[in-house]
Amino acid sequence: MSNVDQEGWARVKGRLRAEVGDDVYSSWFARMDLEAIEDGTVRLSVPTRFLKSWIQSHYAERVLACWQAEQAQVGRIELIVRSAVLRSAIVRPKAEIERRGETGHFGANGHARPLSAGDAGVHEALGGSPLDPRLTFDTFMVGRSNTLAQAAARQVAAAKRGDPVMFNPLYIHAGVGLGKTHLLQAITWAGNAAGERKVLYLTAEKFMYGFVSALRTQTALAFKEALRGIGVLVIDDLQFLQGKSTQAEFCHTLNALIDAGRQVVIASDRPPSDLESLDDRVRSRLAGGLVVEMGPLGEELRFEILKARVMAARSHHPSFDVPLTVLGYIAKTVTHNGRDLEGALNRLLAHNKLTGHPVTLEMAEREVRDLIRPQEPKRVKIEDIQRVVARQYNVSRSDLLSSRRTANVVRPRQVAMYLAKTLTLRSLPEIGRRFGGRDHTTVLHAVRKIEGLVGSDMALAEEIEILKRQLQE
Ligand code: ADP
Ligand code: MG
Repeated sequence: MSNVDQEGWARVKGRLRAEVGDDVYSSWFARMDLEAIEDGTVRLSVPTRFLKSWIQSHYAERVLACWQAEQAQVGRIELIVRSAVLRSAIVRPKAEIERRGETGHFGANGHARPLSAGDAGVHEALGGSPLDPRLTFDTFMVGRSNTLAQAAARQVAAAKRGDPVMFNPLYIHAGVGLGKTHLLQAITWAGNAAGERKVLYLTAEKFMYGFVSALRTQTALAFKEALRGIGVLVIDDLQFLQGKSTQAEFCHTLNALIDAGRQVVIASDRPPSDLESLDDRVRSRLAGGLVVEMGPLGEELRFEILKARVMAARSHHPSFDVPLTVLGYIAKTVTHNGRDLEGALNRLLAHNKLTGHPVTLEMAEREVRDLIRPQEPKRVKIEDIQRVVARQYNVSRSDLLSSRRTANVVRPRQVAMYLAKTLTLRSLPEIGRRFGGRDHTTVLHAVRKIEGLVGSDMALAEEIEILKRQLQE
């Protein structure tokens, strides 16, 4: 695609933002990309089917009008989902598939190749931040919220010297405890183990106080020399990068590496556009590669993480046995982030070791009580569910309560009942009453129906995650 097209697109985005306001823009359009312009058709992509249908039903004409205001010859907008293609190409890690076959309790096998001292050697020689040997791809569990980030990270780690750089920089952002550091260190381990390209992992702090100052005392030639040694530069927690001169160095390093065809990987707790202290050129350079967000860990993913953790713990503590019901309980109730999951298991392990008592559900309930955040899950009202679901599916709230049975109302109604059951403490008969006086068996049917569908229908599962998030925010 030409620069002219990209510039036109930037102006269209500016128009859109001005028309709909910052909030609406960042909710719905921030992740929309221009794919192609051909014969008067503009092809735009968004990362989810939900976004696609939402934009299509609410903003299609406005988007077209904004394009036409820039380029009169544009006659049509085509919206596509871009992650769908990537997703289907992703192969689940073998270890994960093997684990799925298990039932009941754990076997003590299933360990990854131990990391060798040599893997860390390169990294240390380059002056990198310390690495945790547990944070590898083998221990990183993949679920809906991090599929894309993990696939991109693997791609970076597996790339050979001289391969064309597919996305640069790779920029991963997510809230606390959602696996950024884990993924970045996994890239570092795997990249250095492959030996193709030297990978250097630096926290933003280390970058500020070590790397940059070392470079400053050297000549420009030495700087180039140092960079030549690095195939992949990984920087964690970029949001902590502070100070004008550090940022100038960072910008310089970033440009030098990218221009030399070296890979840069960055993690931060926010998207590039929210890194207020960085200047515009750096931000746009950061946004110019692949920006991927990792969402909250879903319950299923939390469960997988716990299972993997128990398995790892068993290599040191062979008698540590955690029934799956207990893991299910923790996955369901300790919802905050990966760190709390680790904390919960550590307590069970400590208790088990110190008292010799087996791990039971009662014990788990007692031990992890304070990790269940009192404000979680937030109290959600049935009215809110009905309002949000009606809005998302473009039906009215009274449609949801009515006896209409057309498909475009039935599914949203089932989703709303399912959410009412999972997000509130209301009983089935109560929910039935609040949905236009329906019988509790109707509610039960709806709940089972949606439960069954989310297992197989990724798009629906994603829609429901988004709805849940909206309701719990
Ligand atoms: P962040 O850097 O985003 O704050 P971390 O990478 O430090 O988060 O993750 C916090 C904890 O949760 C770590 O113990 C990490 O191993 C674990 N964790 C997070 N996501 C995953 C995952 N997808 N698979 C396995 N463990 C994970
Ligand atoms: Mg981190």
